[in-house]
Amino acid sequence: MPTDFNQLTNQLPGLVELCRTYATEGRVASYIPELAHANPQTLGITLHHKSGSFTSAGESDTPFTLQSISKVFTLLLALMDRGEQAVFEKVGMEPTGDVFNSMLKLELVQPGKPFNPLINAGAIVISSLIGGDTPELKSQRILRFIRDLAGDDSPSFNESVYRSEAATANRNRSLAYFLKDNKVLDQDVEPTLEVYFKQCAIEVTCAHVARMGLILANDGSDPLSGREIVPKRYVRIAKSFMVTCGMYNASGEFAIQVGIPAKSGVAGGILALVPGELGIGIIGPALNDKGNSTAGVQLLKQLSEHYDWSMF
Ligand code: GLU
Repeated sequence: MPTDFNQLTNQLPGLVELCRTYATEGRVASYIPELAHANPQTLGITLHHKSGSFTSAGESDTPFTLQSISKVFTLLLALMDRGEQAVFEKVGMEPTGDVFNSMLKLELVQPGKPFNPLINAGAIVISSLIGGDTPELKSQRILRFIRDLAGDDSPSFNESVYRSEAATANRNRSLAYFLKDNKVLDQDVEPTLEVYFKQCAIEVTCAHVARMGLILANDGSDPLSGREIVPKRYVRIAKSFMVTCGMYNASGEFAIQVGIPAKSGVAGGILALVPGELGIGIIGPALNDKGNSTAGVQLLKQLSEHYDWSMF
């Protein structure tokens, strides 16, 4: 049954306050020092329906950086730039069950080939595949793509978050050098990491993420104008990865409890979508031990149960 958007709009503020209590169970990420300044009690959501209606509740205007959510969009851009074969020569299609920045499985199967494009190793390789002669050009193309999907030109790079990550990213550097050593990464490490850290530092609000989700929910086209932004085939690939690997090593549990494609990031953002219906953007910086927003996941769980959103 289609979601009753009026009912949802009325219900949303109460639901946000209910789920906010779960924020106390989580902690704000601090391994990127700049992220530690976020207020753990923040909870905001925007839902954007294909009819053009949208609704928000809580602190949905709080800016946050995309972090891992960006990986879905760089995957799409790399597929559009290079095609499916070139992309999957470099990254696999399987979940790892490990944490996002794990090195563990990099030596398995095909040496150095990351299991999927949503773990850090895979996303770093994907960043190297984005078209553009310089890191600056690649980053500008990623930003332009995000703005197009968000339907707004205000998303920009948060320079402090970018610098904070670039200055402390020993683990991502290790992953990148390992990938380079195995010739999976065939570009230089530092320029590739510059692109990767910048895509993670793109600052958005819930409304932007909800619109980006809506385009994916609508198979890559703007439901109002009909304009195709991403080919349907690539959106299908991205949505499959969101279901199997989007919520880190809690993706299986999330599929059971919520049952819709989603991708979270360490700043506490969640991109989610109900196929054919709506896009969702959430911010809740307090994270559980798997790296997902405690209050944000709870909010999606409640909404999914109430509106019967599960795809399964
Ligand atoms: N920039 C973050 C990192 O590479 C993104 C991780 C995430 O959001 O999962 O560590």
